[in-house]
Amino acid sequence: MAENLKGCSVCCKSSWSQLQDLCRLERLQCRALGITRRNLGDFEVEYLCDYKRVRDEEFYLVKWRGYPEAANTWEPRKNLRCQGLLKQLHQDLARAPGGPVRPGPRGLPARAASYLVQKAEQRRALRRWEQLLNSTRSHRGRITVENEVDLHGPPRDFVYINEYKVGAGVNLTPVAVGCECHDCLAEAAGGCCPGASHNKFAYNEAGQVRIRAGLPIYECNSRCRCGTDCPNRVVQKGIRYNLCIFRTGNGRGWGVRTLERIRKNSFVMEYVGEIITSEEAERRGQVYDRQGATYLFDLDYVEDVYTVDAAHYGNISHFVNHSCDPNLQVYNVFIENLDERLPRIALFATRPIRAGEELTFDYNMHVDPVDAESTRMDSNFGLAVGGSPRARGRIECKCGAAACRKYLF
Ligand SMILES: [Zn+2]
Ligand SMILES: [Zn+2]
Ligand SMILES: [Zn+2]
Ligand SMILES: [Zn+2]
Repeated sequence: MAENLKGCSVCCKSSWSQLQDLCRLERLQCRALGITRRNLGDFEVEYLCDYKRVRDEEFYLVKWRGYPEAANTWEPRKNLRCQGLLKQLHQDLARAPGGPVRPGPRGLPARAASYLVQKAEQRRALRRWEQLLNSTRSHRGRITVENEVDLHGPPRDFVYINEYKVGAGVNLTPVAVGCECHDCLAEAAGGCCPGASHNKFAYNEAGQVRIRAGLPIYECNSRCRCGTDCPNRVVQKGIRYNLCIFRTGNGRGWGVRTLERIRKNSFVMEYVGEIITSEEAERRGQVYDRQGATYLFDLDYVEDVYTVDAAHYGNISHFVNHSCDPNLQVYNVFIENLDERLPRIALFATRPIRAGEELTFDYNMHVDPVDAESTRMDSNFGLAVGGSPRARGRIECKCGAAACRKYLF
């Protein structure tokens, strides 16, 4: 029996740092955990929860990692080496509700001290959420989360997904053929995959879109002869930029900013969510209207049969705000599924975007007809709010663009 168990292992339910804390609590040295006689007495500051000045000396109330709050101690500044946490405390105090606070000899007013603890808890919750998002994403671009504005934590009832979640009553039509090109860009046999439906090749050699908005993108698929480095595979490779979900300071909730420079016409992200029928969208729209949220995106490239609902299932695009002067533009993309009623929605940069800039798209975008024969391009790629337009109240726009239309819908 024991022999059969050789090489078996069971995961430990405690994390590395929890085990180290246990050692310190029990005054146990453990070489495997790196707890030696020299560092047995070291303690790690989890956060600072109060602050006082006695004569000319500053003291901070420390919550120690792995210890209950009852074990908090006042420490003089010279004992603390946590520069980042000290800076954070002073930033938090400057933003605390009720204005900047001055400490007395007994510490901060209760309201300010409780704000510090809430900020610490919020940061912990946001770090956990950030880890969850990054362990769920299948794309290269990392996601960071930041709220230096208020006490909002991670959104409730939101599940990160990487591709469309197909709802009840929706069937995809898998692609049956691929192209036979030797080089999809330079020697496209029969116009490559876009050519099969009399459309243009969408990308240049750098993967930047070169056809105008309103025209569809047909990418190479699993049945094509070309490999993953084919220039006609862009959207299918997913998000490649590191992006940050941040809390906006002017009442627009969460937003998304890029942490890297993005070149004009580059693919940035897909708008994914649950695909539902338009009837279902109508029903949900009435509920969402009351909550004032806008996550329904009508797929009306040919006919208005399906809608993408990103309210509860979505990717980082769920957090991208509207702007009347946006830096992202929507394209309809077909890859493994050729049903024209079910395009994938891809967002491309309309201009060069600097690192640190917020990403936005126009929730109510209209794409002009490309030419007389293709009247079907005369569609509204708008993010529908659902329900009848007359029944809705008008939503004020806070995008701040010089050309702001003042109302979202
Ligand atoms: Zn090809
Ligand atoms: Zn192909
Ligand atoms: Zn190809
Ligand atoms: Zn606006």
